[in-house]
Amino acid sequence: MRFKVSSCVYNAEKVVKQTDVNLKSDLENGSDKVIDCSEFVAYPPFINCHDHLISNWYPKAGDGKPYKNVSLWVDKMRFTPTFLERNKVWINDGSFDLTQGNAPLIIKLGIYKNLFSGCIVVQDHINNQKPEYYEDNPILVLQEYTQCHSLDMGNWWGGDDAVTEWKKAGMKKPFIVHLGEGTDDDARSCFPKLIKMGLLQSNTLMVHGIALNKEQLKKCAESGTMICWCPESNFFLIGQTLDIQSCLEFGVNVVIGTDSTMSGGINLQSEIKYAKHKIPDFPMKEIFKMITSNAAKALFLPESYGILQETNTNLMLLDKNHADEFENILHTETENIGLLVHQGIPIFGDAGFFQEFKLDVADYFLFDINGRQKFVIGHPEKVTSSIDEILGYHKDFPFLPF
Ligand SMILES: [Zn+2]
Repeated sequence: MRFKVSSCVYNAEKVVKQTDVNLKSDLENGSDKVIDCSEFVAYPPFINCHDHLISNWYPKAGDGKPYKNVSLWVDKMRFTPTFLERNKVWINDGSFDLTQGNAPLIIKLGIYKNLFSGCIVVQDHINNQKPEYYEDNPILVLQEYTQCHSLDMGNWWGGDDAVTEWKKAGMKKPFIVHLGEGTDDDARSCFPKLIKMGLLQSNTLMVHGIALNKEQLKKCAESGTMICWCPESNFFLIGQTLDIQSCLEFGVNVVIGTDSTMSGGINLQSEIKYAKHKIPDFPMKEIFKMITSNAAKALFLPESYGILQETNTNLMLLDKNHADEFENILHTETENIGLLVHQGIPIFGDAGFFQEFKLDVADYFLFDINGRQKFVIGHPEKVTSSIDEILGYHKDFPFLPF
């Protein structure tokens, strides 16, 4: 299947104008015509490197005043209307088994939050779940990782201690840990602790890193330790963020995460806009790398993620709203995603593409955004109606476009 596009962004260094892009899909309708997509730009779909799928409730939890470290926010967050309303649907019994009870409903919300912002991969920071948690999802919920919640709070949600978890990764998977989420001595003490534990490693993906100084960021670059930047969540909770300019200067492999909507932006598209609003001269090409190739490297994903190639099984077409392909990403919302394909399966897009594939209408939900007809895989409308039934009233989520 071939699409004639306005430009194709193979990766940050290779952009080709007026070209065809190839897609390999078992669902193609057999016609060998080239589909005219000259109003679209082709990209590798995005990757969200940090989320908490069980916590994508809305609005943000808390008063928005900066705390010196994240534990102070967690204490207050437990009493917010947002947290208490989420708990009407899913109450944590302490097991953190997110395949039980109503947890899968909220997990699906989080998956659709990511899908509707062009993500085909999300890293859900939680203790490792049962295999079925990672199966049959429209996007990839990363299964191959080890983790520790944070060095100061430990693995209170399940899993081994940080060193054992890192060893279990065997340098073949990322070891993921919240670190330095604050500005006080507690937050600053985390990085020396990480070094002491022998965890300053090339498969360690540290989330936040607000408390790290230049010298410590340089050490991350030298050791290959990677950092996940969550700007909106950082400013909401702590009033500051990672020293991203130094990260670029030293060459740290930086990726971007949304965190959950209880502290972060509504999705990855809004996270990028927020980052650009806070740091206007930050190059969009760098941001593009952080949500594609840098992310694929950080999460140890196959080559078919994070870049486009001659033939692809993953593909995204975005409306062309800006002459520069990287700036264009800033000028797109959910409705501007013309087509999103994951592993050869169209998962979201304009209804016009529907007949280009052999799709079963029963497997998709059809709706419109501002009059533009869309299809999406699965039935998110059933997820929201089940949630409404439990709550006894209608709940809106700003990341759902229907
Ligand atoms: Zn987090």
